[in-house]
Amino acid sequence: MREKHRFFGNIVVGVLALQGDVIEHRRALDLVGVKSKEVKVPSDLESIDGLIIPGGESTTLSLLVELGGMFDVIGEKIAGRMPIFGTCAGLIMLSKEIIDGRRDQKSFEVFEVSVKRNGYGRQLDSFEAPIALDGTSPPNYPGVFIRAPAVVSLGDKVEVLGKVIKDESPVLIRQGRILGATFHPELTDDLRVHELFISMIEEV
Ligand code: GLN
Repeated sequence: MREKHRFFGNIVVGVLALQGDVIEHRRALDLVGVKSKEVKVPSDLESIDGLIIPGGESTTLSLLVELGGMFDVIGEKIAGRMPIFGTCAGLIMLSKEIIDGRRDQKSFEVFEVSVKRNGYGRQLDSFEAPIALDGTSPPNYPGVFIRAPAVVSLGDKVEVLGKVIKDESPVLIRQGRILGATFHPELTDDLRVHELFISMIEEV
C-alpha cells in the first residue's frame, strides 16, 4: 500500500452509496489520506465537505436518488457550492443534457454539458486508453472506460482538464466546483484525479 503522503485535517468526503463503485472510491480517498463516509440518506450530507457520485448505472442511480428523497437535498448542497465529483454514471447524473437517456431518467442538471450514454459504441463498450491530463504532459494517466458516456458538447464555463488520446474527446471536465470524469479513476492506482478533487475542496 502506498503511504499516505499528506494530512488533510478534517476534510470528509461523502460518497453517494446507493449503487456503483462506492468501495473503490473510498479506497482511493483512503490512499490519498482523506476521510470518507457513505452517503445514503439526506442527513448523511450534513457533515461532509464534498461529494462523489460514483459510476454504476445512471438510470438506476436516478431512480434510487429519487426514491431516497435525495434530489432536492443534494441539489441544495450543489447550489450552496459544495464541491461535487461525478464519475461515469455520476457525471451523467450532473449533466444538463443526457442523450440516449431513459425517458424517466433525471439528473441534477448543473453541469453545462451534453453527454451521450454509452457514447463510445457497443464494440468499444469498455476499453483502456491513456489520458493527457493537461495540455502539456504526456498522456500517461491510465484511463479505464466502462460503457462510458461521451461528452458531445460543452458550455462556455466548462474547462477541459483531460482528453483521451484515442480520439481527443474531453474526458475530465470542470465547471467551478463541479468535476466530472467519463472514466473510472477509482479503478487505478494513479491518485491524481482524486487529489485534484481534494484540492478543489481545499480551495473552498
Ligand atoms: N452506461 C452507464 C450509464 O448510462 C454508465 C456506465 C458506468 O458508470 N460505468 O449509466
